[in-house]
Amino acid sequence: MNLVSELQSILSEEQVTDNQAVLENHSRDEGYQPPHPPDVVVFPVNKEDVIKVLRFANRHRIPVVPFGLGSSLEGHVIAYRGGISLDFQMMNRVLTVQPDDFLVRVQPGVTRTQLNRELKKYGLFYPVDPGADATFGGMAATNASGTTSVRYGVTRDQIRSLEVVLADGTVIRTGGDAAKSSSGYHLTGLFVGSEGTLGIFTEITLRVYGIPEAIAAARAAFPDVKNAVNTAIAILSEEFRSPGWNWWTPLRSNKSTHLVKPIIRNSPPSSWSSTVTRRACKKTLILPRKSPQDRSVKNFGSRRIPKPRTACGKPAITWPMPLSTITPSGKRCQRMFVSPYPA
Ligand SMILES: Cc1cc2nc3c(=O)[nH]c(=O)nc-3n(C[C@H](O)[C@H](O)[C@H](O)COP(=O)(O)OP(=O)(O)OC[C@H]3O[C@@H](n4cnc5c(N)ncnc54)[C@H](O)[C@@H]3O)c2cc1C
Repeated sequence: MNLVSELQSILSEEQVTDNQAVLENHSRDEGYQPPHPPDVVVFPVNKEDVIKVLRFANRHRIPVVPFGLGSSLEGHVIAYRGGISLDFQMMNRVLTVQPDDFLVRVQPGVTRTQLNRELKKYGLFYPVDPGADATFGGMAATNASGTTSVRYGVTRDQIRSLEVVLADGTVIRTGGDAAKSSSGYHLTGLFVGSEGTLGIFTEITLRVYGIPEAIAAARAAFPDVKNAVNTAIAILSEEFRSPGWNWWTPLRSNKSTHLVKPIIRNSPPSSWSSTVTRRACKKTLILPRKSPQDRSVKNFGSRRIPKPRTACGKPAITWPMPLSTITPSGKRCQRMFVSPYPA
């Protein structure tokens, strides 16, 4: 069977390719796993295309691997058995914005920055940022998290409902728009994080949030890991009484430990250093915004927050863990974090 011409006959010529460069682009993600190309790359433009491809592939027992942006790190998109790479870059429309419900409905190829550009005019934003400008299909399939997840939760916490095409082409809808619902199985939660193995998402309904009025980043230096971790615990406890603190990263140098934290508050962060932080830290520094209009956490004083590096100079990988496992000895933490800052 000529896979390309068969697929072109059920879709269109431009939507199917076995061009070597395109196959190569779809043979790997951002991880270190050995690449393997698919036999063909298909670009669906709507749900009907996805249904046709899956019915065809199911009939002929051909593997299908959905592809968002290829930014995952664990070999998710590698077509180890060849077959079809289903690339969602043409399904990239924001379908509806319901500002009063704090909900949006998107196609799977929409990226996080694309959505945030669209949401800005409503004073809303989507908070989960996995570090790459990933697609919502990919983020849903990997249950992506990021630096703001301590405050807002992970992708699973943001998804209200999904439209999913199953392997035989059947379409199902999971969940609903209402926040309060306890009926039935939590199918949305099952599909989120299923890494393309249970079905293909063709629509995703997401929670969105009001853009905070003030965002700042601060750096605090501590004499040791224990003090830094205890302060982070105290700050997070304070969060329940006075929501606002966002996330923190402990970084350790030879002489001191630093908490680096964007602070997202609904009021200007003028008095943050007079909170619990002051008790334990040696010095604090509020980092300036690049411009007063700039609300992006990442752009806060980014020149003054170099990326954390390990002892051998490689970029450090952040390692999520419960705070209580770091303290009190802090030994594990001391091995993991080395700060680029002068003490
Ligand atoms: C520098 C860097 C930092 C990162 N930091 C983090 C981090 O802190 N936290 C984190 O969670 N991730 C992180 N990632 C990983 C990455 O950004 C996520 O895995 C991302 O969510 C993948 O999205 P994508 O659009 O690139 O999807 P892809 O990589 O293309 O695909 C990911 C998975 O989703 C499936 N998929 C894609 N579209 C669909 C669809 N429509 N339906 C069903 N399945 C689909 C694919 O088959 C694959 O299994 C980081 C990546 C980079 C490069």
